[in-house]
Amino acid sequence: MDELDIRSFWRRGDKAFTDDFFSVDVRKLAREYCLRPNSEAFILAGSVTVDLEWRQCHLGGYRVYFCCPRCLGRCCILYRFPKGEMPSDQYGCKKCLNLAHPVENEGESERAFRRFKRAYERRGSEDSSQPEGKPLWMRWPTWRRLTDQFLATIEGRLEYDEKMTERLRRLYKS
Ligand SMILES: [Zn+2]
Repeated sequence: MDELDIRSFWRRGDKAFTDDFFSVDVRKLAREYCLRPNSEAFILAGSVTVDLEWRQCHLGGYRVYFCCPRCLGRCCILYRFPKGEMPSDQYGCKKCLNLAHPVENEGESERAFRRFKRAYERRGSEDSSQPEGKPLWMRWPTWRRLTDQFLATIEGRLEYDEKMTERLRRLYKS
């Protein structure tokens, strides 16, 4: 099987895609369709073929990404653009969405991401063999404080994603 140079295509039923669909997360897609590293592309609603990129994780296994059809960058979430544009332009990553439909607070996402990254680095990774993941050398109050800060930045990012979806909803309506 592996010697054959075939692209594995997966088709999603049309009924799964309604007009109130605004974004698609590659991680959810991969879970739902049991995608494997030999799946090189996925056909999204509107017959748009999007390439998949698989990258090996440090701890083994693979992580899957979309290859944004507009900028060819790696991303986890593709946003669906309002109709009336080229079929191949129907999807784009966060960056492309901001370029095509700029908003006043464009720096918000980047700031939220920087806050998230800083908090993540300060906290360090969890030790799965320890209760609540606390590394042995760290004191409990420090670990709890850093964890709270980290969780707050995740929320900040989620809020931003909701704003993006809200914006798309408005674009579709107009
Ligand atoms: Zn893009």
